[in-house]
Amino acid sequence: MKIDFANLTKAYLENRKAIDRAMSNVVSSSRFIMGEEVQELEKQLQQYTGSKHAITCASGTDALILAMMALDIKPGDEIITSPFTFIASAETIAFLGAIPVFVDIDEATYNIDANQIEGKITKKTKAIMPVSLYGQVANMDTINNLAEKYDLAVIEDAAQSFGATYKGKKSCNLSTIGCTSFFPAKPLGCFGDGGALFTDNKALSDKIKSIRVHGQTQRYIHKYIGIGGRLDTLQAAILIEKLKHYDKDVKRRQIIAKKYDEYLTEYTTIPIIEEHNTSVWAQYSIRVKDRNNVQEKLKEKGIPTAVHYPRPLHLQECFEYLGYKTGDFPIAESVSDEIMSLPMNPYLTAEEINYIAEELKKTL
Ligand SMILES: *Cc1c(COP(=O)(O)O)cnc(C)c1O
Repeated sequence: MKIDFANLTKAYLENRKAIDRAMSNVVSSSRFIMGEEVQELEKQLQQYTGSKHAITCASGTDALILAMMALDIKPGDEIITSPFTFIASAETIAFLGAIPVFVDIDEATYNIDANQIEGKITKKTKAIMPVSLYGQVANMDTINNLAEKYDLAVIEDAAQSFGATYKGKKSCNLSTIGCTSFFPAKPLGCFGDGGALFTDNKALSDKIKSIRVHGQTQRYIHKYIGIGGRLDTLQAAILIEKLKHYDKDVKRRQIIAKKYDEYLTEYTTIPIIEEHNTSVWAQYSIRVKDRNNVQEKLKEKGIPTAVHYPRPLHLQECFEYLGYKTGDFPIAESVSDEIMSLPMNPYLTAEEINYIAEELKKTL
């Protein structure tokens, strides 16, 4: 058997006619930049998340940059985030000259340990950036309470969690600004780069919209320093089609995760989803001791795996200047050594899941 990790081809083929039509409409109208599909998608994203304002942009990375620019994050400001995430979370903080301040993760969910955040708040702290890793939101109540107490913004890095819920409320709509990504392999992916920001604050939304287009308020009149960070009309048109089936995709991912759980619970550390959360399963990640060996053996059986992420951010060369060292965040470090993601996409069959689980058990 040959298993496809994310099966993006199938996602297209399942819905080919509608997507082709949507793309063709954009191409024949030639409205490649800020065509009507962009606004239409933003409206639908608002409805989907319950957020008052949705602003699309060129990528999840740009969403984080736009969020911090709109919040006036300046060089020297401190932003508290997780060391166990994709580089973009902390990289964008550093890109703006601000300082990523790491807090270790919770061993059960792999998200930032909200109970350790308060100890890291200083006079320079401007925001907290929890990451909703693998599709599950962090402990937002604790984080939002701290933010209120110390007058901080909260930016949810929801690149992996669009559609997830926390106490019945949608990810992206849980804090000052939520940022997501439509990178092809994310749960809701387009056919290239794409992203979006969410906020209930009209002034912030207006400012983000302006900064997204070089800080302009009218054509060639520039109020802010901005970026060229728009979402292509083509990607918006594709996302409108994919959003129609997204709840079904999420449901399938959840069913697949449950099957994995049943097969594997006795053999390895399976993911833990907190009772008040639902996950969209961007990844299904387990912990294995002899990871290289397990990956190699599975590969021989046609089962691709991946590691999200092999090295925590405080130990990356690009962050050497921050002065962290091995041992600073022991949980992030040990999880990085053992974490391994299994194939996860809405199209895995019962047979494939069984095969993956049986082959994996042989290696443990
Ligand atoms: C993918 C990802 C990003 C960046 O999104 P892009 O669209 O690839 O720029 C940021 N944060 C996290 C946690 C991600 O997984």
